[in-house]
Amino acid sequence: MFLSSTVGAALIVLAAAQASYDFIVVGGGTAGVAVSARLSQYLPDSSILIVEAGPDGRQIPGIYIPGRKGSTLGTTYDWNFTTTPQPYANGRVIPQNRRKVLGGSSALNLLSWDRATAADYDAWQQLGNPGWNWSSMHAAMTAAESYQLTPTNGSANILGVGEHGPIEFLINRFSPPQQEQFFPAMQNLGLRQTYSFLDGDMLGWMRHTSNILDSNYTRSYSPNYLASAGPRLDVMVNTTVLKVNLGNSSHVTGVTLMNGTTVTARKEVILSAGSIQSPQLLELSGIGNATILSAAGIQPQVDLPGVGTNLQDHIRITTAYRLRPNYTSPDILRFNASYAAQELQNWTHNISGFYDETGSGYAYMTWPQAVGDPGAAVLDSLATAAASSANVVDQRKLQNLLNLTARVPQLEILFSDGYLGNKGYPAVNSTLYGAEFFAMIASIQHPFSRGSTHINASNPTGHPIFHPNFTECRI
Ligand SMILES: Cc1cc2nc3c(=O)[nH]c(=O)nc-3n(C[C@H](O)[C@H](O)[C@H](O)COP(=O)(O)OP(=O)(O)OC[C@H]3O[C@@H](n4cnc5c(N)ncnc54)[C@H](O)[C@@H]3O)c2cc1C
Repeated sequence: MFLSSTVGAALIVLAAAQASYDFIVVGGGTAGVAVSARLSQYLPDSSILIVEAGPDGRQIPGIYIPGRKGSTLGTTYDWNFTTTPQPYANGRVIPQNRRKVLGGSSALNLLSWDRATAADYDAWQQLGNPGWNWSSMHAAMTAAESYQLTPTNGSANILGVGEHGPIEFLINRFSPPQQEQFFPAMQNLGLRQTYSFLDGDMLGWMRHTSNILDSNYTRSYSPNYLASAGPRLDVMVNTTVLKVNLGNSSHVTGVTLMNGTTVTARKEVILSAGSIQSPQLLELSGIGNATILSAAGIQPQVDLPGVGTNLQDHIRITTAYRLRPNYTSPDILRFNASYAAQELQNWTHNISGFYDETGSGYAYMTWPQAVGDPGAAVLDSLATAAASSANVVDQRKLQNLLNLTARVPQLEILFSDGYLGNKGYPAVNSTLYGAEFFAMIASIQHPFSRGSTHINASNPTGHPIFHPNFTECRI
């Protein structure tokens, strides 16, 4: 199926794709829709095609209702990847959700609108990427966003935000009493409230911001870019790209779709299939480590051994706690149908309640702030041992970790209302069914473990071999 934008980007169904476009964008996810819409605005004479493997999910309540975030994980809107058995995690196979739908993982994620700290972006430039620094990244990020002032506590104090971009965000109007206790708890642990977390300085606790449209409290995500797209953008959904085609001297000529159709790119093909599938597509196209390609029966076109290597993913742990009986969490929506129906009715009438909910209780800290000086000294020595002396990225991470004046957080703590955990909410006949919970999520920010993602030699177009090597390094 093809969807095509007209001027003003109302989408209509087309019968067939054109044979060629100026630009082909592979993957209509978070980045793909944004880059396509921007190209179509700034190059209105150019034709642009987005090819997205999943459907258009903009009418799916599990996607657009903020309080139903997570409900479509593991469904047909999810690629449902898993890791390989992780050797440093007792052989565990860990789910890796990635969205298969227009909007990509911005349709699945927890709606947190976030950025890293200034020193993290400046490190990109210092490591040899001129122009990739806090100043240019901040300008681009503020162009993407439109901060909505609301009556919520502290809303007017947030610094460094944009006001005219396609992605709306705000501090959620809904904050249950249990979450309200997170903030003084962080204060009592010595952290200060910050309003600069989107302005390059994240250390402290905050009422965090969420991707929500203020007018109707729905998810604001990358398909929102389509409303401002130029006249010559086509969107093709439910269509998977098999590979990028290379012509003489290895320049890109277009793409081949899974059904064998080829579409020609007159100017560029832009790969935005996500961190797991962009490397897979390169390898399927003959670009990558020649040994890995040959083992999978793919003729190497460009021997590029770095493809699929240096994979780093920031692992998180989640601990669920049972709430006292006088507290209510969104768990009630699972076991009390009449309560859930009333809450949904309220949400439909724009009345605040559990279907608004996104987490707002966040804190970012250095290791001394998180575990005190003696504990931080242990972590410092683990990091020093883990950082490869030959790897400039490791050395930069270590420098930011040891130099506290850089104000780079190493740990993120989130308050998440309701049960959260790999095993899912307690089963109907279990003793904890009907109980209500909150969860605390802890996530390291700059892991030293490195893994890889490569095509599976016995099934190259199937799920890649995703091996993040979690906890190889103990920090
Ligand atoms: C569970 C979860 C929660 C998260 N929560 C947050 C959060 O709260 N805040 C935050 O900032 N970040 C969050 N993230 C991370 C964030 O969502 C991702 O970093 C971001 O969406 C990645 O964007 P992307 O464009 O690189 O990839 P994606 O958005 O994943 O887009 C890739 C797209 O390419 C498509 N595709 C792949 N292969 C092909 C192919 N061969 N042919 C055609 N199409 C293809 C996919 O279907 C997908 O739509 C979360 C991520 C996950 C998994």
